[in-house]
Amino acid sequence: MLNNKEIKNQATKTKRNKVNPPKLMVQCDTLDQGTAAFMQWLSSEDKQSVKNPIILKEFANSKYCLIYDNILGHDVIVETQNGVPRCKNCGADDCGHVGFTICLEQKYDNDGTIFD
Ligand SMILES: [Zn+2]
Repeated sequence: MLNNKEIKNQATKTKRNKVNPPKLMVQCDTLDQGTAAFMQWLSSEDKQSVKNPIILKEFANSKYCLIYDNILGHDVIVETQNGVPRCKNCGADDCGHVGFTICLEQKYDNDGTIFD
C-alpha cells in the first residue's frame, strides 16, 4: 500500500503539466488511484464529504462493495466473486473502484472493521 508521501509524489507527477495547483480530485481509473482515493477517504474527517473522490456507502466483505464516485457522480458496485473484485460500472478488475475495494478488504482483514 502506498504511504502518504508516495501518493503526494504521484499526484505531483500527474499534475506537473498543469498551471493550476494540484487538485485533490483525481479520476479513479487505475488501481493506484483507487488506493490513493481510499487513503484520502480513510484520513478524511467527514467520511461522507464530497471532497473525497470515492465515498463508501455499503460494504459486505468478500461479497460486494457499494461506493459513490464523486467524479462520475453516481453509485458504483464492485462485486467480489471467488475473492476477485470486479467493477460493475467499468466492467474491469483493475479500475480505481476495484483498487478502493481491495484496500477496504485488506483493512477489514487486518482490523476486523472498516471504521475506526
Ligand atoms: Zn470501476
